[in-house]
Order: sequence, then structure tokens, then C-alpha cells
Amino acid sequence: MAPAHRPGRRGRLGDWFLASGALALAHLVTEYGRIAWGACAAEGCGRFFLATGPGSVRRYCSTSCATRARVAAHRRRRRAEAEG
Ligand SMILES: [Zn+2]
Repeated sequence: MAPAHRPGRRGRLGDWFLASGALALAHLVTEYGRIAWGACAAEGCGRFFLATGPGSVRRYCSTSCATRARVAAHRRRRRAEAEG
């Protein structure tokens, strides 16, 4: 018997891809217990991110956003002190 590869059934590949994608997501949820997600708190970013792993509380999509926000907050504080 020939392997079950039929060029006429290419449409099924899309279904399979979607199904396996959902399966991968289900696997992630199972593995990590839960997936926390949110929008990046950095000014002018607003990207959405996934925070996986237990106890990982994230506010930013990346470390560069976290650093940028920290520096901006620091500058704001310095300016407020200089004016005050
Ligand atoms: Zn960001």
C-alpha cells in the first residue's frame, strides 16, 4: 500500500494546522497551569504579551520596555524634585 499522502486533500492541511495549534495551546495551559497575559504598561507600546510560568508577574512585553519605563519614571522623579 502507498502512504496516505493525497495531493487532492490539501484543504485538510489547514484544518490539521489549526487543530494542532489549538492542541499546542492546550498543552501550554496544561503545562504551566495558567497563562497570564496583558498589555505592555510602557508608554507608547501597548503590545500584548504572554507571561508563562508560576509567579511571573509582568507588566511589560520585553526587558527593553521595562528599562525604558524605569528610566522614564526616574527622569520624571528627578524633574519633579528639581522643580519642587
Ligand atoms: Zn512593550
